[in-house]
Amino acid sequence: MAKEGFFLSILYPDARLFRVTAITKEFLEQHGLRGLILDVDNTLTTHNNPQVDEQVLEWLSRRSADGIAMIILSNNSPERVQPFAEALKLPFVANALKPRRTGYEQAIRRLGLPPGQIAAVGDQIFTDIAGGNRCGLYTILVEPFDTNENAFIRLKRAAQRRVLRRYERRRAREKQV
Ligand SMILES: [Mg+2]
Repeated sequence: MAKEGFFLSILYPDARLFRVTAITKEFLEQHGLRGLILDVDNTLTTHNNPQVDEQVLEWLSRRSADGIAMIILSNNSPERVQPFAEALKLPFVANALKPRRTGYEQAIRRLGLPPGQIAAVGDQIFTDIAGGNRCGLYTILVEPFDTNENAFIRLKRAAQRRVLRRYERRRAREKQV
C-alpha cells in the first residue's frame, strides 16, 4: 500500500456509483454528507447537452427537498454552464480548472458547509476526484453517460481504467483483511 503512495491515492474515489441517481438520501446520511459539488459533462448529462433526462431531474428535486445543498463545478465555459445551471436553478462555478483547488474553494464557500460534509461528484479521476480529494471532500466517481468521446478524452479514459483496476485490487485486498 505504501508503494502506491500519495500520487495514486489522490485519484481514488471514496465511492463508485453508476449514476448520480444512485446517491440516495440514505447514502448521504450514512456518510454525514449535506452538500454536493456536481460536475456537468458526463455526470449530469452527456457532453455539451443542454438537457438532463427525467431521472436526473427527479433526483435533483428529491435531494433538494431533502435539504441537500448543491452547486455545479465545471471546467467547461460559462457559455455552456450558465444556461444549464440556470435551467436547473443551481448555483455554478464555470472554468473551474479542476483539479486545482480554487474552484472547489469557491464552491465550498458558497455551500457554506465544512468540507467533511460535502461530496464532489464526477466522472473523471484526474479532475473531479483528484480535486475533491485535495480539498478534503468525500469523492464519488460515476460512470460517464457517453462513451462517444474525442481522442483526448479516450486517452484519459484508458489511463483512468488502469488506475481504477489498481484501486479495485486494493479495495479487494482491504476487504480480505
Ligand atoms: Mg465530466
